[in-house]
Amino acid sequence: MSNQALSRLRPELSQLHAYAVPDSTGMVKLDAMENPFAWPVAIRSQWLEHISRAQVNRYPEPNPEQLKQKLKQQFGPHDECDLLLGNGSDELIQLLVLAIAKPGASILTLGPSFSMYEMIAQMIGVDCHVVSLDDNYQLDIKAMHAAIEQYDPSLVFIAYPNNPTGNLWKRADVQSIVSRSQGLVVIDEAYGPFAADSFTNDLAKHENMLLLRTASKLGLAAVRFGWLAGEKQLIAELNKIRLPYNINQLTQLTVEFALDNYSIFAEQADAIRSMRGSLFAQLSSIKGVKPFVSEANFILFKVLDRPADDVFSNLLKQKVLIKNLSKQQGLEQCLRVTVGSKEENKIFCDALTKALNA
Ligand SMILES: *Cc1c(COP(=O)(O)O)cnc(C)c1O
Repeated sequence: MSNQALSRLRPELSQLHAYAVPDSTGMVKLDAMENPFAWPVAIRSQWLEHISRAQVNRYPEPNPEQLKQKLKQQFGPHDECDLLLGNGSDELIQLLVLAIAKPGASILTLGPSFSMYEMIAQMIGVDCHVVSLDDNYQLDIKAMHAAIEQYDPSLVFIAYPNNPTGNLWKRADVQSIVSRSQGLVVIDEAYGPFAADSFTNDLAKHENMLLLRTASKLGLAAVRFGWLAGEKQLIAELNKIRLPYNINQLTQLTVEFALDNYSIFAEQADAIRSMRGSLFAQLSSIKGVKPFVSEANFILFKVLDRPADDVFSNLLKQKVLIKNLSKQQGLEQCLRVTVGSKEENKIFCDALTKALNA
């Protein structure tokens, strides 16, 4: 590649890294918060029948109103809000950052939190300020208020529950962040199906609040589908920078089918919450690790007496893939495991016990 052509790219690109996904062939895969349950065979054939009506020679429905109505029926909000659909919620995060990216604008988020907020800000060239959580991964509300005052961010991202720590924030704290912000505040409820609380019913009270959700963690990671709920006029403005036909026909049909069969996903989410409880109890009984209470479908834990890197590599050797976060700021010695099936969770706990004693 000649340097001349490369020199036309924005120089910041050379500092970025492509999103890395490790090879998981042959692994017990507990790194990406996927739903461990495959669809029952009967449902699978009904789904195949449903998607067979796709007309792949035609562009998809440009603005799938019926799908939006079904989403609102299932998840709310049941009021004047509108929805904006995305090819994964990551696409909507990118769209939001693009929408506020004028000179001097900045983004505010918490740290540690979902890495894409910062990565997307970086790739678009918008400043991203990060307010650190305290040692127990709780929100430092005074620091957050101070940062809102100091930076007047155009966009605040609050993951609720937080990834990778798994906890919810105090409601009153989140509400005060929304009311003190002049800019937009996005409550990212990617783990909503597993959490005890949601801000869905607060949306109507705050014009500057947006709610972000995804089908990925619920059990449709493969189709890439997320949605943003918010005040009508705001959604209409954001919709202007959505690329045409961003939700392909197979995704539309699959999500529609899933919503028509939602009880399957609701039951799976219930089962995952219950297995999260067992996994937490098991992790608590394993000497040498400290798990953190989670409202999501994963558990963060600290390795106490040996390098977390070694434990992670030993698990890999045993063909168990989890997420190594120990190199990230504020997550020293931390690993994150997705709640899998009963069998997967047992394999993981046995492998972890072995790794800790290796
Ligand atoms: C996984 C995740 C997302 C991204 O979900 P996609 O819809 O798959 O792009 C967004 N926010 C948080 C906090 C997540 O953990």
